[in-house]
Amino acid sequence: MVTECESGVDEPILLSALEHYSYCPRQCALIHKESIWDENLYTLRGRDVHERAHEETEITDEVRIERGLPLWSERLGLVGKADVVEFRGEIPYPVEYKYGSMKSGRHANLQLCGQALCLEEMIGQPVVRGAVYHFSSRRRREVEFNAALRERVYSTIKAIRRMLRKSELPAPVNDKRCGNCSLAESCLHAAIARPARIRSLHRTLFIAD
Ligand code: SF4
Repeated sequence: MVTECESGVDEPILLSALEHYSYCPRQCALIHKESIWDENLYTLRGRDVHERAHEETEITDEVRIERGLPLWSERLGLVGKADVVEFRGEIPYPVEYKYGSMKSGRHANLQLCGQALCLEEMIGQPVVRGAVYHFSSRRRREVEFNAALRERVYSTIKAIRRMLRKSELPAPVNDKRCGNCSLAESCLHAAIARPARIRSLHRTLFIAD
């Protein structure tokens, strides 16, 4: 397992970068390296959902709810904020709010697990589960922070650090993800892909036997 932050060398990584990198490494680089952020319908809906989640702190008989809780891990070099953390006694249970449907969970799971790792370091309690709340269906999807998911977080942190150190941006993914991406205009994915497609066509026509 790898995970130590090279303290004094690397800036902390935002927890949201885990989800961005998982969705598209180039998107992560544009946001976290080039500081480019464009809004589209999806990002505006997402922001609205996060703002609703951050509004207040509640206490019920069994559960204390903290909203907009700052999170960090010195060990992993992560910082960010949790939409909601429910505390049952001392045990935290992070809940990440997403606009999208229940199907789009893989990328959000990484960010949620990153939050759990921060909470474990901050509070000194094991955090074994959390949930993604899908606003469009008003349903929660519970996520178990198992060894495989934790390893994916560690390897994604390493990959993000490598990407941040490089001078060039990752190549565009050029697939259906680009259709929902708010950075499509800034990314120029189609223009960059065209020469590669032409080279590939050239190889097919003139080099293949
Ligand atoms: S437009 Fe496509 S390649 Fe470019 S950042 Fe978005 S998802 Fe990635």
